[in-house]
Amino acid sequence: MKILIVNCGSSSIKYKLYDFPRRLQLAKGLIEKIGEKASAVNDHSQGIKVLIKQLLDDKIIDSLTEIYAVGHRVVHGGEYFREPRIINDKVIKKIEIIADLAPLHNPANLAGIMGCRKILPKTKQVAVFDTAFYQSIAEHVYMYAIPQQYYRKYGVRKYGFHGTSHQFVANKVSELLRRPLSKLKLITCHLGNGCSITAINKGKAVDTSMGFTPLEGLMMGTRSGDVDIASIFYIMKKEKLTIEQMDHILNRESGILGISGISNDIRVIKGKARKGNKFAKLALEMFIYRIKKYIGAYFMILGGADAICFTAGVGENNSDIIKGLKKDIYKIASRSTKVFVIPTDEELMIASLTYKVIKK
Ligand code: ADP
Repeated sequence: MKILIVNCGSSSIKYKLYDFPRRLQLAKGLIEKIGEKASAVNDHSQGIKVLIKQLLDDKIIDSLTEIYAVGHRVVHGGEYFREPRIINDKVIKKIEIIADLAPLHNPANLAGIMGCRKILPKTKQVAVFDTAFYQSIAEHVYMYAIPQQYYRKYGVRKYGFHGTSHQFVANKVSELLRRPLSKLKLITCHLGNGCSITAINKGKAVDTSMGFTPLEGLMMGTRSGDVDIASIFYIMKKEKLTIEQMDHILNRESGILGISGISNDIRVIKGKARKGNKFAKLALEMFIYRIKKYIGAYFMILGGADAICFTAGVGENNSDIIKGLKKDIYKIASRSTKVFVIPTDEELMIASLTYKVIKK
């Protein structure tokens, strides 16, 4: 059975086609610059048409009916969605309501869903939410210590992101250890441009470093991670910044880029640090320190860990950083705690979840 996975950004569509249950990847591609002036693709609907045409032209499929289901990545599922859902009008309405919480992502995800509904009207569509994995987190963990009314009125709480990636590597660890997830305490570290760490007990998320938005937690490529909010008010006052300007600074100009003043890319930063650049060195030290801090915290929360796993661009490709972290992990953990580096595959996880839902 062929399952198409669609991941829509504001101006792009990433896709992969799989054959299930073999879990075999048949094709992948990227449609870019959607809606841009010089582009031939005006909107996501047209983008979906282009990707289907590519699959037909490359003879990956002979007809549209071969695509049995489409799995859509949807960034925010709010408190409505604890698991993947077959898309119907009700589900669409809820994704629309939640778009207020993820204005950069959910509308693009929805545009992809609408495009697929138009072009593949007979095909089952499934929404897989980045936040769903974290709906198991307890109330005393997801609440912020601010007046309750803001949670009740606006849903301000910790949601967590990167759920499919953490879920994917957790499953892999369980396979490698040959022990069921239900018997494992895991700390999974997704270190890419965006970074998050999740504590998982018996296959369920217990806590995660990202929060109401992906800004909370670790220091990232361009995001600040944790910061005293009062310092932000102070800067805004001194520099007479608008909310939008400060939001941009914290999400796009901070983190490794903000401290080094050079780049958000760890490869570049390591190169500069080796040549003695002190800001590059500082950025690296800060980045690694924050990872240790969260691993330490989750070790305490879980009461130890059977495995700690690193993944995504930084986690998968920087053995020097991982080696250093491993050394520090073994200072507090017993040798029975295993450390893994596992390449993540969010699309394959979305495809597996989609397959599971439609088989039901
Ligand atoms: P995203 O969060 O955008 O999906 P990735 O998981 O692809 O990002 O991670 C991107 C980051 O991973 C890059 O900015 C870089 O710091 C790091 N990275 C990617 N490839 C390598 C590599 N071969 N060696 C070292 N670092 C790498």
